[in-house]
Amino acid sequence: MRVCRGGADVAARTRRRHGRIRRVTVTESAPAAPPAAPVAAATRHRVVIVGAGFGGVACVRDLVRDQRLDVTVIDRNPYHLFSPLLYQVATAGLPEDDIAHPVRAAVRGARFRRAEVTGVDPDQRVLTLADGSTLAYDTLVLATGSVGNDFGVPGVREHAMQMKSLPEARRIRHALLRTYEEVAAGTRAPAALHTVVIGGGPTGVEVAGAVAELQRALSREFPELRGQAEVDLIEMGPRILPTFTPASSRHATDALRRMGVQVMTGSAVAEVTDVDVALADGRRLAAGVVVWASGVSVPEPWASLGETAAGGRLRVAASLQLRPGIWVVGDMAYAVDGRGRPCPQQAPFAMQGGRHVAQQIRRELDHQPPTPFRYRDKGQMATIGRARAVVELPGGLRLFGTPAWLAWLALHLAYLAGTRNRISVVGDWAWNYVAWSVGSPRPLTE
Ligand SMILES: Cc1cc2nc3c(=O)[nH]c(=O)nc-3n(C[C@H](O)[C@H](O)[C@H](O)COP(=O)(O)OP(=O)(O)OC[C@H]3O[C@@H](n4cnc5c(N)ncnc54)[C@H](O)[C@@H]3O)c2cc1C
Repeated sequence: MRVCRGGADVAARTRRRHGRIRRVTVTESAPAAPPAAPVAAATRHRVVIVGAGFGGVACVRDLVRDQRLDVTVIDRNPYHLFSPLLYQVATAGLPEDDIAHPVRAAVRGARFRRAEVTGVDPDQRVLTLADGSTLAYDTLVLATGSVGNDFGVPGVREHAMQMKSLPEARRIRHALLRTYEEVAAGTRAPAALHTVVIGGGPTGVEVAGAVAELQRALSREFPELRGQAEVDLIEMGPRILPTFTPASSRHATDALRRMGVQVMTGSAVAEVTDVDVALADGRRLAAGVVVWASGVSVPEPWASLGETAAGGRLRVAASLQLRPGIWVVGDMAYAVDGRGRPCPQQAPFAMQGGRHVAQQIRRELDHQPPTPFRYRDKGQMATIGRARAVVELPGGLRLFGTPAWLAWLALHLAYLAGTRNRISVVGDWAWNYVAWSVGSPRPLTE
């Protein structure tokens, strides 16, 4: 693994030197500085974790057990979001409360502050918050995740919808449901019932399948519009689910097509407008709703804190340290697995990284050297629709169809935070399973 400036090797070197930390700008090389001083008995070491997502929560849960630490978690939202189920909120399968868990309940033992972090001064070890206040730390853990990346495609920002947050999922749901009302009322053309999903990764596949099922359910409520709704899934590469085996990609493609989704591979998007999506080969697809599920990047101010890899991910040392006093976990960290491949921007990498960094912080207080992070591959899975999914486990075990879907349900329930949420999701899923074919499964509030 490539060791970035300010990484563990630098930390070890500077620890020997006992130098003073210098102010760092984006273009400077690594600061020669010691890690935060060991705590005196009366002064607890201040750890600040930015981001209460998968990485941040895993880290804080491990840290709060150490009495030497004073742990503060900061997040712009007061809830921990279970993003793997966002697409079900976007397609009216689950109410949004089911996938949001109060951060304060998730990080008991730590202080929680709801705030937007806008800057960091790594020399002074101070964070700046959006309200203008500052917060000092001894050790900082960055776990702010990623944001959608439009790759500069014209019109994406204005006319396509990303799905990284609850408000964005809510917006998609509103757009999908409102379009039916507007077309039925004659205020919009029937072509607006076409939905285009861009990006054939797991999120795009899940959204496309769920939209197809929603369209089928809505055709019972809007019989006059039956047969007019469509969903297209567009992927630039030669196959959908590119990180899965070709067999899983084929299975997903066939299953989606049977559900009525037009799967278009090898199709690059050139532009998105308010009425259609233009492909690089000149075709134009009518679209009332466009969902952009194609790639993520790390936002400012974080990307300027160190050397970056693809998608703006911060290159970290083997221990996940960015520079003395700063650790990075989750989507924003670029680390490699045992075979030299980039660790995936997925929840298991974030959680494992969070726990590893918690261990490193304690080791540092004990004057022990850092240890390298080892990513444990948990496999990958994508749901395609009800009773349809693909699962690939380490060791080559593959599941398709209903067994895969049941495994997907069990795993998502296990990782969902909060007993209330689990019970509620099970209830909603059970009802939906029955209701998709006979009744009205979706939450009716808009
Ligand atoms: C739609 C969707 C589906 C997904 N499905 C799966 C899946 O099935 N399986 C899987 O393993 N992974 C899935 N992922 C990826 C997974 O969600 C991420 O890899 C994981 O959330 C990364 O964890 P994290 O801790 O790095 O960031 P996040 O979990 O995104 O948490 C980041 C936190 O930081 C906060 N934050 C960000 N910036 C600031 C700031 N400036 N100030 C204060 N707070 C801030 C955010 O509010 C958020 O709470 C999916 C992602 C999406 C969007």
